[in-house]
Amino acid sequence: MKIPFLSFGTSNATIKKEVLQAFETFFDSSWYVLGEKVKQFEKEYASYSQTNYAVGVSNGLDALFLALKVLNIKEGDEVIVPSNTYIATALAVSYTGAIPIFVEPCIDTYNIDPEKIEAAITPRTRAIMPVHLYGQCCEMDAIMEIANKRNLFVIEDNAQAHGATFNNRPTGSFGHVNGVSFYPGKNLGALGDAGAITTNDNELVTKLTTLRNYGSQRKYYNETVGYNMRLDELQAAILSVKLPYLPDWTLERQEAAALYTSLLSEVPGIVVPKTANGATHVYHLYVIRTKQRDALQSYLTENEIGTLIHYPVPIHLQEAYGSLGYSKGDFPIAEEIAETALSLPIFPGIRREQVEHVCNIVAAFAKSNNKYI
Ligand SMILES: *Cc1c(COP(=O)(O)O)cnc(C)c1O
Repeated sequence: MKIPFLSFGTSNATIKKEVLQAFETFFDSSWYVLGEKVKQFEKEYASYSQTNYAVGVSNGLDALFLALKVLNIKEGDEVIVPSNTYIATALAVSYTGAIPIFVEPCIDTYNIDPEKIEAAITPRTRAIMPVHLYGQCCEMDAIMEIANKRNLFVIEDNAQAHGATFNNRPTGSFGHVNGVSFYPGKNLGALGDAGAITTNDNELVTKLTTLRNYGSQRKYYNETVGYNMRLDELQAAILSVKLPYLPDWTLERQEAAALYTSLLSEVPGIVVPKTANGATHVYHLYVIRTKQRDALQSYLTENEIGTLIHYPVPIHLQEAYGSLGYSKGDFPIAEEIAETALSLPIFPGIRREQVEHVCNIVAAFAKSNNKYI
């Protein structure tokens, strides 16, 4: 049985008719940039996020960059990010001229460890960027408490956890300004690049809509040195078609994850994902850990099962960040995760037999490798 890491088959089939209709309406409208579709999706996504506003932008990285920019974070500032996040979180900080300061995650949840944040705060610290990694909401009560006490902004990186919650509040509704990605493979994905910013602050919304559109509110009158970081009108129309299906697709991910966890918990040498008290997980990724990661990945590949590693090189060891001067051993938890994590196939429409088959292959591998366990 061949099982891809990710398949759009089922979800695309569900929406195909509606997407083609939306395309036709868009095509006939003759209005292709910043029109009614962007406005409509912004309203819908704000409502989904339980925030007053959403501002559509070009992608998740630009959303995070504009969120920092609009808070006036700049050269000389420091911004706290988790040591095990995707590089985009750190890049957004670097674009502003500020420096990303890495804080280690909890080894159980893979999300930033609130207990380690205070030690990283200096007089230059301006903001904390919690990342809801793999689909699990961070421990936002503890993080907001630190931010409020130390007078810091919070910018959630919500690229992976649309619809996850902490104490029943959704991701993207805690921070001052928050970035979300609609990259095709995310839980809510466009058919190309797309992103948004969520916030309750209407003054920031005006600044954001100016910045994303050449620093202009009125055509050909430019107030600031802005950017072209607009959400594409066609992608907005497609996102409006997909959003109503997201709750069902999330449930399908959660059901597949529950089955994985029940079948893999007893397999020796395999660590299954854990969710913190008060948090929910929408399983953008189902990530196990094992000391035999590379061998297990090869074994799954031989058995035609797609896997990926999120992420093989922590940011502090990336060539791009060599100038920060870190070396191996500086962030041991991030390094441990990079060496042991393996993401198994998960997507809406994955079938019970497919999950069972993956688990059987993992169990067979563990049996044949019992000398390690
Ligand atoms: C995908 C992702 C981003 C960037 O989103 P893009 O839309 O690809 O720019 C940022 N942060 C995290 C954690 C991501 O997974």
